Amino acid sequence: MSFLSVVKSVVNKVTTLTYSPSNPIILPDSNIMWESGAVGITTYPIIYVKSSYWAGLSTALKAVFMNHENTHLSQQKSNVALYALKYAIDKTYRLSMEVEAYGAEVTYYIGLGYSKAVVLNMIATLLASSTYLNMCTYAQAIAALKAKYPKLLV
Ligand SMILES: [Zn+2]
Repeated sequence: MSFLSVVKSVVNKVTTLTYSPSNPIILPDSNIMWESGAVGITTYPIIYVKSSYWAGLSTALKAVFMNHENTHLSQQKSNVALYALKYAIDKTYRLSMEVEAYGAEVTYYIGLGYSKAVVLNMIATLLASSTYLNMCTYAQAIAALKAKYPKLLV
């Protein structure tokens, strides 16, 4: 099953789940922030989301998105400038921050009944993509996810 077909089936399956604390700022698709392929960017205290991506999400997936980005808010709260610098230059740091933020997705997809292998493959594929500026290989993403979520993914 491809990543996109998994996402589509999830969108069709679930329509109820709430998100908090607030809605993100929706920016047009033409904004330069989306050039890397990212669909959401968080710079404490603001969460930005790509307009067409947000419009296509079910309420449940909006909650998953917000959980991911709220994790980034927590990571950045004490010193957003230092976070941004380390995130930009240190691939290991970037991977650890994203693996932590993907906890919402891991829990959500496993909870929907997707196999651990499908969830692991889906998230590792994203982490190893150019969206995250080639911060790791697929194998490194798998290893980092398994280390962070041993009960869920091993
Ligand atoms: Zn993230």
